[in-house]
Amino acid sequence: MSRFTFLGLALVLVFASSTWAHEHPASPGKPTPPASTAADEVLVPGAVTAGSAASQAGEPKILYWYDPMHPDYKSDKPGVAPDCGMDLVAKYADPPAGGAMSMPAAPAAAPPPVARPLGGMVALLGALTGIALAFLYTRQFPRPRKARQFDLLQIGWVKAFVRWKYFQPTLQLPNLAVFALVIYLGFFDTQVGGRNFATKLTWTIWWAAIIFAFVLVGKLWCAMCPFGALTVWSSRIFNPVRRLPVSLRNIWMATLAFALLTWVDESFGIVASPRRTAWLVIAIAAVAMATGALFQRATFCRSLCPIGGLIGLYSMVSPLELRARQASLCSACATKDCYRGNHKSQGCPMFEFPAVMERNNYCNLCGECVKSCPQDNIGFQLRPPLQDLWSSSRPRFDEAFLAIMLVGLVFMVTGHMVEPWHEWMDRVAQFLPWTALGITNHQVVESLTFTVVYLAAIFIIAPLLLLLVSLLSRSIAPASGISARKTFTTFAYMFVPIGLALHLAHNLLHLLKEGPGIVPVIQRTINDLTPWRAGTPNWQIPALASDSAIYYLQMAVVLGFYLLSLWVGWRLALSNYGDRKLALKAVLPMVLVAAGFTILNVFLLSQPMSARHHH
Ligand code: SF4
Ligand code: SF4
Repeated sequence: MSRFTFLGLALVLVFASSTWAHEHPASPGKPTPPASTAADEVLVPGAVTAGSAASQAGEPKILYWYDPMHPDYKSDKPGVAPDCGMDLVAKYADPPAGGAMSMPAAPAAAPPPVARPLGGMVALLGALTGIALAFLYTRQFPRPRKARQFDLLQIGWVKAFVRWKYFQPTLQLPNLAVFALVIYLGFFDTQVGGRNFATKLTWTIWWAAIIFAFVLVGKLWCAMCPFGALTVWSSRIFNPVRRLPVSLRNIWMATLAFALLTWVDESFGIVASPRRTAWLVIAIAAVAMATGALFQRATFCRSLCPIGGLIGLYSMVSPLELRARQASLCSACATKDCYRGNHKSQGCPMFEFPAVMERNNYCNLCGECVKSCPQDNIGFQLRPPLQDLWSSSRPRFDEAFLAIMLVGLVFMVTGHMVEPWHEWMDRVAQFLPWTALGITNHQVVESLTFTVVYLAAIFIIAPLLLLLVSLLSRSIAPASGISARKTFTTFAYMFVPIGLALHLAHNLLHLLKEGPGIVPVIQRTINDLTPWRAGTPNWQIPALASDSAIYYLQMAVVLGFYLLSLWVGWRLALSNYGDRKLALKAVLPMVLVAAGFTILNVFLLSQPMSARHHH
């Protein structure tokens, strides 16, 4: 295929997309619907003061209050649900016949609905795909050369700080103190998730912010993580000699742990429960310490940490890398102190050998090798972002599986937060045999349905889709030495930006909309639990950006990372197939799947989304 033919095809794609957009004009924007669409109810969280209000003349009668997350929980008065901390909402009797609901408690002026032009976004994606493929196909990539990069460890005070023996404890101890505070407040402060510092800090601020941190600074969080500190300290105290069996020295257990943790959270509402959050922190800390007591070095971080695999994959995107500066020095090095350790350091806790390290996944940025290298040969350098995703000479099947699983998992987690979710689950439940099995309780049915859909999405649908397109890719672009498994493993890395995009976009909403809520939470905590006063909490604290601005930021992230995924896919195809035409044929099925996932992500983000916490 000549370049002109290809450009022509790209333009046809652009034209087709535009035509589609013209025929499917921008949707007028979905007003945020009430959490239930039943005609006989209106949800007014906390707006009506008591059931007695219902008895006033002309107002509909309140039958009871219920938890919108778990509708089976009912109360005869307003308040919060004991298990998830959601505000209870009023269930009203039927409205007067023939009249539209006229609810005195409804907000006087609802904010204008955000325009969410789904069709326009899909058309834009189509157009961008054509342009990006044409650009990539015609672009010559220069041979990679080891240019002199900006090295942070050349800055005197940075180097002195990293080489200081208290470098890591200085980062770890404050975080350990915060974790202890999270545990204390989780048990002994209010159990309303949106008002407790433990839940607010952990889930709205920390968990949302570290996803951005992985992209910007790689695994810097791991250098200061309290769980990492506990496991390494435990290992130093007990000095175990065992290592994990070779078959377990991978991220399969971490992948399963993350899938399990996510399911537990979605099913049992850990995010909304301070007490469960505290128990979770204790449980992970206990496993980390036990692992340190039983196995050498940071085995927990390397193979067991539930978010370790995810952090590793996302940090491949980062523009920072810790590497040996000169291979020749390492070749001549007799001691390999960076791995073994010496009187200045402990050796690499992650079992990494910096001399051959080519990816960020398993380097916790602990600085031990910086201290121990007798040649001062370790650098912490700026480099082109995403490089690890396409330049690795050793793609791994366990990482590839996690990369594609994350696409399904993040979709499910985000889906769980959009308001039509319960309605979708009800529809899916109709096709599952719950009634035949005698299971009729709505909450149980919804929970079981979620479990089935979740497991299918992450373990079957997403990986199977990649497997099918790998077979397709292999059949239309046969190349010696490239099996279906290798195609799967190689191209899975181009899906890291797709899952990451939804993860970032999802958490952008939490950070910008709910993040400021940490201020009244801190004020309330200080007022209630200390002798000091921190002012009156403003529970209506405004968001950092409007709904409309957040939506377009999310779209920019999702579409931008989709383009990055195409870039990664093309670099992978070129380096594996060499020939451009063959590379194009090989990558096209992958591009179709990446585009499909991105359209689904755009659709999901176009739905009204619930807050992580309510006050
Ligand atoms: S100790 Fe330094 S020079 Fe020796 S192998 Fe490690 S990084 Fe290379
Ligand atoms: S490679 Fe160096 S900085 Fe990275 S985990 Fe190992 S010792 Fe720490």
